[in-house]
Amino acid sequence: MPISPGAGPVPGVLADSHGRRFPYLRLSLTEACNYRCSYCLPDGYRATGGAGFLSLEEIVRLVRAFAALGMTKVRLTGGEPSLRKDLVPIIAAISAVPGIARIALTTNGCLLPARVRGWRDAGLTALNVSLDSLDGTRFHAITGHDRHAEVAEGVDLALSLGFEAVKINTVLLRGLNDDELPAWVDYLRDRRTAVRFIELMRTGDNREYFLRHHLRAETLEQALIEQGWQLRPRPADGGPAREYGRPGHAGRIGIIAPYSRDFCAGCNRLRVTARGDLRLCLFGEWGIPLRPLLQADRDHDALVARIAGQLGAKADGHRLHQQQTGLLSHMAAVGG
Ligand code: SAM
Repeated sequence: MPISPGAGPVPGVLADSHGRRFPYLRLSLTEACNYRCSYCLPDGYRATGGAGFLSLEEIVRLVRAFAALGMTKVRLTGGEPSLRKDLVPIIAAISAVPGIARIALTTNGCLLPARVRGWRDAGLTALNVSLDSLDGTRFHAITGHDRHAEVAEGVDLALSLGFEAVKINTVLLRGLNDDELPAWVDYLRDRRTAVRFIELMRTGDNREYFLRHHLRAETLEQALIEQGWQLRPRPADGGPAREYGRPGHAGRIGIIAPYSRDFCAGCNRLRVTARGDLRLCLFGEWGIPLRPLLQADRDHDALVARIAGQLGAKADGHRLHQQQTGLLSHMAAVGG
């Protein structure tokens, strides 16, 4: 189906009433995941809902509309985005949208060794790989899959392919992986990557797990500072992670602390679910359906107007401190 080009970019239109700008879209490609991470989908993915996930044509129309509003970066996430059979055409089509300079993918990494070259060739510019432990047995216990070796091999392969960035996400889990800082420091000595410790977030489905395994990321951050890691200046479009480096280490360590004060002040992203709902916040109370306007090129202007018209409703911050998780049952449902 031919898709006509959209209007030219209007930089800066994607801003909210709290002075934040949103150059960055996190687009979920699927709710399905092949892992059973203990904090997310411990019983595995079960299909729900009627309509399928956004098609390639719908995705291109969506990205064109965001690009017309000045969006420059798209991150593909899920569920597990690499389960999409059309991932390579999706990457290629997004990279052809005028104004989109960066396309990143967040993946559990199990298909990296076989697929990452193809993603890079199609136009992927950055990669985030989830790796919750450097120990194979622990990795298996946390994710439900004995695939540590493939993921680790995949990260090393990705590091050789000239990506703008290859980063590792590790959810910090009390009693399960919170003693691995020395192993990560070793790992980072010669690898030009950043490991980002993400503080476990409460979701609708993980309340008891959260109480057992939540650990404030600042605990780890304090240990880093004591070991001579230094906070690096945050790039203007850097998002909420705080990144540390240490002389003699090629790699960096990032801290993503959603419960810290001012976390939301650095918010630079909007989200669209795999079924085409705009979410102004991961923990928002409502979604704005965009899918009806993704069916034909002639709706481009109406789509742009619907997106732009919603930003005034973006709250200044999440309500996680009040245990309010909004619509979010688990991260795979929205795209973490
Ligand atoms: N399947 C892909 C992956 O594993 O990276 C992409 C989707 S996954 C939902 C995105 C990221 O969210 C992963 O790094 C995952 O560990 C993280 N995540 C999931 N649930 C979380 C939670 N409750 N708190 C913090 N991070 C979470």
